[in-house]
Amino acid sequence: PIQSAAPIATIKTAAGTPGGIERTFIAVKLDGVQRGLVSEIIGRFERKGYKLVAIKSVVPSRPIAEAHYGDLRARPFFKGLVDYMTSGRAPVIAMVWEGPDVIRQGRRIIGATNPMDAQPGSIRGDFTLTVGRNIIHGSDSFESATFEIGLWFDPEEVYNWRFTNEEWVVS
Ligand code: ADP
Repeated sequence: PIQSAAPIATIKTAAGTPGGIERTFIAVKLDGVQRGLVSEIIGRFERKGYKLVAIKSVVPSRPIAEAHYGDLRARPFFKGLVDYMTSGRAPVIAMVWEGPDVIRQGRRIIGATNPMDAQPGSIRGDFTLTVGRNIIHGSDSFESATFEIGLWFDPEEVYNWRFTNEEWVVS
């Protein structure tokens, strides 16, 4: 099953396996919001064929930001990163996207963490210059996707729905 409690009729393969129907946590960070790139970013996932199952505009609390970046706690930039994310200078657009292999494909759509390593054609490759302003977050594994979706969203904020044109996108 995918990560949510509610079953989805369209699952064909197991989540966490390549090609499986999964959910991933994607966030446009405040630099992306300030730069007016929300629609560009949503559009790239939407045009690919992925399904938006949750979205909200939020300034994360310090505990949420610290938990979200918990694996970076020991890094020198950790405090600055949390200060930045919680600053309220713009909200974060938090989303859950669903579809085949969306965790891994989402990372490819986003591009490498360091914009200087990100391929042209990826979001970071096309729109960003430095790691401290790389505009977007995407879960990097099934485990982190499950954790991050649960951290940022209540279950009732994630909505199960079906594409009416699904047979024309996936076969
Ligand atoms: P990703 O966002 O691609 O999953 P990481 O989990 O390694 O990458 O880092 C999380 C975020 O922390 C990055 O997107 C970036 O905003 C910030 N970050 C990472 N490395 C640095 C760095 N050397 N200096 C400043 N910020 C950084």
